[in-house]
Amino acid sequence: MIVNRPVRICVPVCEKTFAALKTAALKAAELGDMVELRLDGLDAAEFDSAIKHIAELVRSLLRPTIITLRPTEEGGYRDLDYSSRYAFWSSRSPHDDVEFFDIERDVVAGFTSSDNHSPVAPNWARTICSYHNFKGMPANLAEIYEQMANSPARILKIAVEAGDVTDCLPVFHLLDRARREGREMIAIAMGSSGIATRILGPSRGSFLTYGALENESATAPGQVEAHELKSLYRIQKIDLKTIICGLVGMPAVYSVSPHMHNAAFESGNVDGVYLPFEVRDVASFFKRMVHPRTREIDWNLRGLSVTAPHKASVLDCLDWIEPAAKEIGAVNTVVVEADTLRGYNTDAAGLVAPLVQSIGSLNGLRVAVIGAGGAASAAVWALQRQNANVSIFARDPEKGRSLADRFDISCQALAQISFTGFDVVVNATPVGSIAGGIKQTPATARQLTGARLIYDLVYNPGETELLRQASKAGCETLGGLDMLVAQARLQYKLWTGRTTNPSVMHGAATTALRG
Ligand code: NAP
Repeated sequence: MIVNRPVRICVPVCEKTFAALKTAALKAAELGDMVELRLDGLDAAEFDSAIKHIAELVRSLLRPTIITLRPTEEGGYRDLDYSSRYAFWSSRSPHDDVEFFDIERDVVAGFTSSDNHSPVAPNWARTICSYHNFKGMPANLAEIYEQMANSPARILKIAVEAGDVTDCLPVFHLLDRARREGREMIAIAMGSSGIATRILGPSRGSFLTYGALENESATAPGQVEAHELKSLYRIQKIDLKTIICGLVGMPAVYSVSPHMHNAAFESGNVDGVYLPFEVRDVASFFKRMVHPRTREIDWNLRGLSVTAPHKASVLDCLDWIEPAAKEIGAVNTVVVEADTLRGYNTDAAGLVAPLVQSIGSLNGLRVAVIGAGGAASAAVWALQRQNANVSIFARDPEKGRSLADRFDISCQALAQISFTGFDVVVNATPVGSIAGGIKQTPATARQLTGARLIYDLVYNPGETELLRQASKAGCETLGGLDMLVAQARLQYKLWTGRTTNPSVMHGAATTALRG
């Protein structure tokens, strides 16, 4: 499959007044290769006068510009029936060779119907025939494509809501088909599960991809900001040879991992891209999109990070698992090696490295691990390898007991416990994180008094309530960011065979977390 097309980022703007539309469009033109003017966003009182100035605005943008008048049933902001849209497009002719019209397929069909004897028709060489479905993936997608492909419009656009990441497959298949049939096409899976189609679409032949001016100004669900498409994902450089890595999770889109790994690719001059995959059903994702022997897509997938809630269930999807990951019961890294999938756990080594750097040898130290989930399991396994004397503290005694029994260590209920005498207390719960309540802490200063170092695996926010309580109690502190970077560097090494300077990932994560 050879695709050699320019990568175009189109930045849509949708504003209530013409003045605001103009300001936004000028910014969009600086950022994107194309601009889309969403006229359906204009207030009714502004519409007629705005239309008179559109040609002038398009001229001033110095960018190919798409004019769109979207009805609400296709994701627009205005109730526009068929007749009003037909009348609007009948009265427009595109300005020079820079103006494109995005016309819904029902109106395109109206212009081309054998019953239509009007001599007026859009300039088909400037027309995008579009179909949007915000409810999900239509069962008759192929039929819709075929009907649209019969139209004289130069470009076809199909945008459908992805309920799961595997809904990207029919969208990628549409791009393949259009390319084989010599049709120019834009195909998008909307929603956070469809982000892969927005980032990889142009490399697979999509005429353009849409990028939001700012996060709040996205005109469709899952739209990535244009500046992120350019500087984070570097989509201008992605082609079919680019190695693809990504994060499998639910949710995955708020992670800082794309920032760290893409920065490492860029700094190491590696032709690679790392993107989020929001996955509900991990077995189906691995079968249909990941495993080289069963997947339904031809792509250069090299590796995956795995996060909650899939770290344990992913074990069933792999051909080989390193012994440590088996003992921990969790895989956070997958490597695609020829036609097999190999699983690793880099959390364990990533957790120990910054701790040893901070406190020295762990041999014989008393360590309390709070929590009984995946991170706690990796912590206990890794700390035992360092000959630490580990105990578990869990809110659910049954879960704590079951983890403690696996590693033959003691377990206590978390409530009201004093950590006096412990060398290290590790928080392996989400308590205190953005997701787990930033004002919460798994232990107070009173409970921590007399412990030496408090290690919070939570990295967002950087300074958690637990670390504040620890400082109050006179303890040393260590946050989770160093572990995040350490485990990511090990993943990068597994995928590329190379090392990356910790400052590259650290800087990228810190900037992303601040933003
Ligand atoms: P997990 O498998 O869901 O386990 C979470 C554990 O926390 C469970 O034992 C849970 O108890 C416990 N917990 C949740 N809320 C609690 C509360 N209010 N009080 C007491 N215990 C509570 O999650 P995980 O994968 O282990 O991750 C845990 C944390 O570590 C997350 O914040 C994650 O971001 C962080 N982490 C950081 C890194 C890093 O690189 N810095 C790497 C991995 C994980 P129940 O079982 O009773 O619900």
